[in-house]
Amino acid sequence: MKGDIGISKKVKNYLGETKTDIYIYLIKKIFYFPYGKEVLLERFKKKLYNALVEKNKEFPKNIQIKKYEFLVAMLESSKRNFDKGLISKKVSERVLDTLIRYNFTQKQINKDVREKFREKYGMLPPSFIVLSPTQKCNLNCVGCYASSTFNAPSLSFEIVNKICNEVYNEWGNRFMTISGGEPLIYNDNGKTLFDIWKKYNEMFFLVYTNGTLINKKNAKKLARLGNVTPAISIEGFEKDTDERRGKGVFKKILRAADNLKEAGVPFGVSVTATTKNINTLLSNKFYDFVFQELEASYMWIFQLMPIGQAKDMKKLMITPKQRVNLYRKWEQLLREKRYCIADFWNSGVLSNGCIAYGRNGGYLYVDWNGNIMPCVFIPYYKDNINELYRKKKKLADALFSELFVNGRKWQKEYGLENTKKPSNWLMPCSIRDHWLNFKKNILNKNAKPEDIYAKKALKSKDYDIALKEFDEELKEKTEPIWKKEYLKTE
Ligand code: SF4
Repeated sequence: MKGDIGISKKVKNYLGETKTDIYIYLIKKIFYFPYGKEVLLERFKKKLYNALVEKNKEFPKNIQIKKYEFLVAMLESSKRNFDKGLISKKVSERVLDTLIRYNFTQKQINKDVREKFREKYGMLPPSFIVLSPTQKCNLNCVGCYASSTFNAPSLSFEIVNKICNEVYNEWGNRFMTISGGEPLIYNDNGKTLFDIWKKYNEMFFLVYTNGTLINKKNAKKLARLGNVTPAISIEGFEKDTDERRGKGVFKKILRAADNLKEAGVPFGVSVTATTKNINTLLSNKFYDFVFQELEASYMWIFQLMPIGQAKDMKKLMITPKQRVNLYRKWEQLLREKRYCIADFWNSGVLSNGCIAYGRNGGYLYVDWNGNIMPCVFIPYYKDNINELYRKKKKLADALFSELFVNGRKWQKEYGLENTKKPSNWLMPCSIRDHWLNFKKNILNKNAKPEDIYAKKALKSKDYDIALKEFDEELKEKTEPIWKKEYLKTE
């Protein structure tokens, strides 16, 4: 293969000539070889750019450039921490072999399983699920939907196991996100999520946690497993974090980070952007703290979307102007600092828009009651996994409710069917950014609200007005950027 990075024919044969294997081989060289890492890294970046941007015929060039920049930031953020000795070789190999090989390139691997699924259901399976096994939490954060009460609902271990079994064996999934409640306190008659992580050792788990239970013992257990990365929630610096999560929580997070680094487990942080912490999120200082002092490997940003009272929403939800500023900050950090950051709305170009409704390359969400929702941020459902399994049906059957089918139809019409000129993926969200359309064309009578707030949102005129205004202003601000910076042809 011409233009490769010094791979002999023998090595290529050994690797089976597949592109994936060659990429993984090169990344391993960049991580583990004692000499010439920087030269290899630069050559690798060129090769990646060529494959992703130059040879691309499917998407506008600038969309591909963003994807390239994000992948490079991901690689460089991990490499930085690996070179410092903060990520063990065992875990990094696991990330490469499991997460990258099986998940991002699953078109080649697991082909049989995925084809079997397609034959049976007429579509490829979602790439992953988000599972919240329990609503219980040991903290009581302001505005959080999780519950610190002992009676908060949880899924039985039998159901959790059955779900994992289905997505692993019948969907070919090798990646899963666990959310909550606090996943580390999940316990059903002595069975915890550590049992799941151990059993499904060919899967890789991203686990959202408040971090307070990551002591030295748990950090070592995670290191031995090698297939879990915790994403610890923070709100900003100590004042913001303790104000929302409770006094002393920030210091516990620092200890958790130290324990994970000592054990060699890569971790990230997740931040909810609100009008309260937006100024922190618009300054480099915070990101330098996260990536250089805390030494996290990645950061996920979520923008608060309170369901329910419109006046609360207006108070806490960041404005369209702040959202655009946050988008510009993300762009700058990706390009200039190579920090691995994704914002679940502003970074819509990375995933070709909305990934809800179980679309191919996307996901669905199962909560602690077993309700199956199109996305963590869409609190409406038709099916429940406990009932489906009782009726001898599958999780996959939930993909065909009207709610899911309508959502996928919208995703196609909005951009997936016309990837050369998609609609504005700077406002990709089927619910937040297109609320009235969601109510009219995606939601239907069979879909039930997840809680009282989701129910209220459907009937509230104020809520409609507030979101309509938000969406219109967002369109006004992002449409020119989309047209000029993404759709323009040279
Ligand atoms: S519905 Fe919104 S939050 Fe959910 S995946 Fe789609 S864009 Fe993301």
